This record gives sequence, structure tokens and C-alpha cells, in this order.
Amino acid sequence: MADPERRFYRAARVANEAVDGWLPDHAVGVSNGKIIDVLPAADAPADETVDLGDVSLLPGLVEGHTHIPCPPRVDAFDIISEEPNEPALMRAAHAVGLALHSGITTMRDLGSKNEVVFAVREAISSGVIPGPRLLAAGAPITRTMDHCWFWGGEADSPEAVRTMAQAHVDQGADVLKVMASGGNFTPTSNPRDRQYPPETIREIVEAGKSGGIEVAAHTHAAEGIRAAVEGGVRHLIHCRWLSANPEEGFRYDAELAQRIADEGIWVNPTIGLGLLASEARERGDAAPRRNPNLRGSSPREQGLEILRDMRDRGVRFTSGLDMGMAYADFNRAPAEAWAFVEDVGLSEWQALRIMTCDTAGAIGVGEQVGKLVRGYDADLAAFPGDPAGDIRDLNRPVFVMQSGEVVVSPS
Ligand SMILES: [Zn+2]
Repeated sequence: MADPERRFYRAARVANEAVDGWLPDHAVGVSNGKIIDVLPAADAPADETVDLGDVSLLPGLVEGHTHIPCPPRVDAFDIISEEPNEPALMRAAHAVGLALHSGITTMRDLGSKNEVVFAVREAISSGVIPGPRLLAAGAPITRTMDHCWFWGGEADSPEAVRTMAQAHVDQGADVLKVMASGGNFTPTSNPRDRQYPPETIREIVEAGKSGGIEVAAHTHAAEGIRAAVEGGVRHLIHCRWLSANPEEGFRYDAELAQRIADEGIWVNPTIGLGLLASEARERGDAAPRRNPNLRGSSPREQGLEILRDMRDRGVRFTSGLDMGMAYADFNRAPAEAWAFVEDVGLSEWQALRIMTCDTAGAIGVGEQVGKLVRGYDADLAAFPGDPAGDIRDLNRPVFVMQSGEVVVSPS
């Protein structure tokens, strides 16, 4: 049966199936929310074709790490550690709309109150508010008064941790998040400290398996990385190798990095956040308060050197700006791609795959989104210029479609 809604979106450059090259002057056919064809523009029916012009058409972006109720401001801690759920819900609803309009059609939230993030996920999926397809961890599991305790995930003993993880699974979490080390954001926490031994993290991994979901571990500490890997975690967040000894700065373990690569554990290095923070410093913007427990230095350039070694060992990276932290607003996802190219030395296409199909695969939706392939969801984002030539052209989209619905129209 003919579909009156069927359209073909024509662009000067369309990402190929592998997202590693352009198809020149092609069109993507869309019907009933799905991609039905990718073909030379000359072969698309003219009366059903929308010409987007001299743009680069990509799969909708996949953002791997957000905190939707968090205001991206330097004083965020004071706001979110004390507020009730209502303002958090309003802010989260605004954040997901901003993200969608910036070309993010799928995102994974890695830490928010359950009452907030699961409610927003439901509001998006039932069409009440616009937003990316949302996967949510709920409250991160953390020790009493340790990193992000205020979201409601405090648990100390292995039994309490198991019970907390199981409760998240039962509430429909898409992924579990554990704070394997302290974090900068929380002044009662120390980023150099490991939070849990591997056996306790294993309890979370096992609870996740009961619901068919994986675990993501926040860790700045090298010992937190070790505990997470030994505990069976599949996603390392930040993965910064800070030594427990402040005088030492970093304690990089190349053997453990090789194991991370060999076991295919995903790493979200949140380097876009570092890039935005250093640009903010250059502008003279206000900085967040320094965590009073964090001693010693950990120069960004040294961290990037470690990351380049991990790259050479074959570690797989995901996107994830840590949206909601200072400077990481919900429309800044491309900064992560910029940093992968400029600071880690990946190619533009590698960065574009991280922003689309690679992270889609990592978070478990790679058979559905992240590529321009027949049968995939019609999630599209078009950018002026050529981000495969200059990654900074991946910035503000001129056209966004999610599941066949136009979100941003070409002017
Ligand atoms: Zn985070």
C-alpha cells in the first residue's frame, strides 16, 4: 500500500552503511518511522524528495553519558543536592528537548534520581514530551555520603549493594551505574579513593544479569578501574587512572589497559568535558569549586597521553560528554567528537562512528539505531559543511528527524 507520508531526504553527502565514507548526492527514504532505502538522489521519486542541500547527513547522534536533572553550571551541587523532585523533573524535561534539537536521538543517562529519570523516560516514550530515546541507570550505587549520594543510591555492604541493584533492575533500569571511585563533583568524596572491592561490584553485575542489563562504573581512580574490571563491569566511565597517592598523580597500568582492550570493555573517557572546561578557562569563565579532598595534580595532557596509549592497544571508546556537569550543556555532544580527533588523534570517521553506531552498539541498541540502513529507525541529523574533513563542522544540525518525525526543519 502506498504511504502518503513517504519521503526521501536528499543531501550532498550521506553517510554510508559502515559510517566510514560519504555517498555523494544520495537520498534516504523514510516511511512509517523506518529507513526504507538509501539510494542515488537521481533514483528517488522527485515529487517525494526533500532536498536538504549542501549538508552532511548522518544517523542521529547517540550520547552515552548524561545526568538530565543536572544544571550545567558551576554551582550545580548546591542546587541538586537539596532540591525536591519537582524542579529536577522540570529541568530534566527541558534538557531532553534541548538534546533532541541538537541532533541527539538516543541517549543514556548514567545517574539521576529514579523518580525523575524513569518518569521522564516514560513521558518521552509515550509522546508526552519530546526527547531522545532514553536509556536510564537511575540512581548510581555509591557508599554513604560518597559520590552523588543525594540521588538515593547509597549502599555499603555487599548485601545492601545487591539489594539496591536488584531494586533498580525491578524498576526497569536499562543499565546499572556504580561509583567505583569518588568524584570531583561531591565535596564529601575523594576521586583518588576506590569505593568498593571487586566482590561487591560483582554483586551489581550479577543483579544486572538477572535483568539482562550491563553495569557502567564511574572511576577516576586506578584502583577503581581494577575493581571494576575484576568485578565484571562492561563500561568504564572517565577511566582516569589517578593514583591513590596524591604525590604520584597518575598510576597507569598498561597490562590492565590491554585487558580492557582484549575483553572489549567500553571506555567513555569524557574528554569533551575536559575540552569544554579548558576552553571556558581560556575565556576566563568561573570554575567549579575544587574538591577539598583531591590533592596532588593530574595534568590533562598526561591523561591524554595515557588515552593515546589505550587507543594504540585497541581499547573501544564510546561517546558521553557527562552532560549536566559544568560547561557540558545538553546541546554540546559534538565536543566529545572534537576531542577524540584533536586530543586523542582519532580520525574524523572514527569519531563519527563513536558518535553513532559504535556507541549504539555499546549501549545495546545497535541493531535499531546508529546507521543509515534499511529497516533501522529513521533517526537522522544533517550538519552544514563536512565533519569528515573538519570535525568542528559537527556542531549545530540544520535538520533532525527522530523515528520519522521531523524535529528540526531545514529553513
Ligand atoms: Zn557522570
